[in-house]
Amino acid sequence: MLIRLLSFSLFQGVGALLAAIFMRVFAPSHGGVVVSSLVGALGATYFWLLWDLSRGLRVMRWLRSEETREVAVESGLWGEFSNRIRRVLRNNERAVQQRDERLQEFLAAMQASPNGVVLLDKDFRIEWFNQSAAMHFGLDARRDLAQHFANLVRDPSFAAYFAAKDFEKDVLMPGRASTATLPVRLSVHVHPYGAGRSLLLSRDVTAVEQAEAMRRDFVANVSHEIRTPLTVLGGFVETLQTLSLNDTERARYLDLMAQQASRMQSLVSDLLTLSRLEGSPLPTTQEWVDVSALVDQCRQEAGELSRVLWGQTHSLIFEIQGGLSLAGSATELHSAFFNLIGNAVRYTPAGKSIRVLASATDDGGALFAVYDQGMGIPREHIPRLTERFYRVDRSRSRDTGGTGLGLAIVKHVVQRHGAELSIASVPGEGSNFQIIFPPHRVQSRLATAPVEAIAA
Ligand code: ADP
Repeated sequence: MLIRLLSFSLFQGVGALLAAIFMRVFAPSHGGVVVSSLVGALGATYFWLLWDLSRGLRVMRWLRSEETREVAVESGLWGEFSNRIRRVLRNNERAVQQRDERLQEFLAAMQASPNGVVLLDKDFRIEWFNQSAAMHFGLDARRDLAQHFANLVRDPSFAAYFAAKDFEKDVLMPGRASTATLPVRLSVHVHPYGAGRSLLLSRDVTAVEQAEAMRRDFVANVSHEIRTPLTVLGGFVETLQTLSLNDTERARYLDLMAQQASRMQSLVSDLLTLSRLEGSPLPTTQEWVDVSALVDQCRQEAGELSRVLWGQTHSLIFEIQGGLSLAGSATELHSAFFNLIGNAVRYTPAGKSIRVLASATDDGGALFAVYDQGMGIPREHIPRLTERFYRVDRSRSRDTGGTGLGLAIVKHVVQRHGAELSIASVPGEGSNFQIIFPPHRVQSRLATAPVEAIAA
């Protein structure tokens, strides 16, 4: 400011001086020096103001233009003014850029969300939505932005929820991609915020609902399975209490009661096995289980079962490669192997043969297979056999002490050992259950060990 005053005074001084010199040289007879100096100073002031105004106008033009990087005036008060304005503009620009970056990051995070997010304005028109919401409701950004949300999603339960404007809770509705065979269930919740705006969140709850339905079915099935033998037992107890029976009749009733008690025992034991399989850590890869010894134990148990159920009339053939070991849990592997062999015994009529095979495969893995000549399984049942309590032949299963959980246990054990279960069957001819173990779980000490065939 001081410099500006000095320069202004200097300008006036120089103007006055030049005017005085001019008058002295060119018109000494006209007027005095004081008047000419005053006129000179006035003229200088006028020029100074014009010059200053032109600099101000340049700054004004510069401010109006979009390009504010290079200042229009470098020096003086206008120069400093321009520089300060440029600094403020730059800071503003940087703040806007940072805000923009933050907004983009925030939107990217919302895009990455597995839940659907829709921003609605005060009239419930769509302002923004993420990819999951697009999938959940079949929205298209080019077509549906600024559309009223309720015009696009017309499910009756959602329409009622939206119309009631009671957004305390969520509403369940089918997703856009839902079909009869592959249902998709969504939980949709509207959260009002700000000045009349709303945030609509959608969540795919298909898996949660299925798990809940499975839990309900499971509890209902277990209750049913336990209630049946309990009712029978109760009936026999009542008979024994009320009727006077002779020794033979009493023995027969006690026998039937023992059968029902054993049925309940098997069920509880299978349920415990399943819950242990679900709740325990995966079987180790450090402990090696000798397949021959394991299958030999199954062979004895299968012979016993065959004797009890059919009177020792199956031809049981075991072809087991020597020196074969599997990494995992001996108890679990025994349970899986015996469930398959036991099923073969139970569903194969007397006189037919059952073949059990265990050998290394060419890729270093191992195969455990059970072939029977039993009643077989119609093709449509095969995909559901490993479901809990799924039975093809209900009465045969119950008569032979089945719980309906055997193949569910096999499936768990197989998965926990990184193996694969495959089932093939021809009704009336027989079935084949195979477990294929991956190479990292298999040790074959004698690669060329002969397969020993033993008939039980
Ligand atoms: P269950 O205790 O009833 O045998 P599983 O889970 O072991 O239960 O088997 C499920 C159903 O699969 C059985 O009820 C039976 O109908 C069928 N099944 C299993 N193994 C065989 C087989 N080897 N031959 C024919 N049907 C079988």
